[in-house]
Amino acid sequence: MAAIDGLPPLREVIATHGLAAKKSLGQNFLLDLNLTAKIARQAGDLEGCDVLEVGPGPGGLTRGLLAEGARKVLAIEKDARCLPALAEIGAQYPGRLQVIEGDALEIDPLEHLTPPIRVASNLPYNVGTELLVRWLTPPEWPPFWESLTLMFQREVAERIVAQPGSKAYGRLALLVSWRAEARIALSLPPEAFTPPPKVSSAVVHVTALPEPRYPADPKVLERVVAKAFNQRRKMLRAALKGLAPDLEDRLLASGIKPTDRAETVTLEQFCALARNVAAV
Ligand code: SAM
Repeated sequence: MAAIDGLPPLREVIATHGLAAKKSLGQNFLLDLNLTAKIARQAGDLEGCDVLEVGPGPGGLTRGLLAEGARKVLAIEKDARCLPALAEIGAQYPGRLQVIEGDALEIDPLEHLTPPIRVASNLPYNVGTELLVRWLTPPEWPPFWESLTLMFQREVAERIVAQPGSKAYGRLALLVSWRAEARIALSLPPEAFTPPPKVSSAVVHVTALPEPRYPADPKVLERVVAKAFNQRRKMLRAALKGLAPDLEDRLLASGIKPTDRAETVTLEQFCALARNVAAV
């Protein structure tokens, strides 16, 4: 039976184009078009928006994004085997799907996109965190995107939305909460994917704030946070050793006890510390 968009069901697409999943490319496909439509809806109102999708694969989520009204989808896919299947989707939605074959880590999508821009992807697990960190640390804020709607392994999703004091709290949660809001929008069991991965997954929805919650130099904040969590079990006076002269005074001036550990320090305190360190 043809799907609602007049294109074949995804199992048929995979069989026709010989798209056996490759582990090396992090390929776990979503074949249920109801589910991909549901994920596309989590990305917000797509009418009048360009959408960046990394790793469209056979195109389940791509079809959801186009059916939900995206003005244009820019899809970057490393696996050339997927291109004929994606071309069929493009033919069904003339002028609205641009596919670039290549590595998303090496391609600048901004040349091909017009604001407002949203990002929606079932990311390859091996590059997901790296892409998220890049999108969270652009040279200018607000960033090029209004929202990010991204699939991660459940454990990574929990690190993105973690609160201070929890085991999952760390660099990712801090980077996100400084200038954005993040929530888990959907949880998916392994069986939602073909082939099923070993672990559960979750869709995280991130919206950019117009300004950071507290002032800080992004590079200094990143350095402080990375160093603090690199040795998260150590007291901060040891974990941050060498960061700045008079470290203990600077910690105290930021409202942090030198004997505290990174996971109990709030975003506001880390931002204060970044300012106090930058003032060296
Ligand atoms: N979006 C499809 C879906 O939901 O069924 C496929 C998702 S699959 C988890 C990840 C996709 O990313 C694969 O199609 C894979 O070939 C592609 N991919 C892997 N590494 C990539 C990279 N560095 N740049 C672009 N695409 C990549």
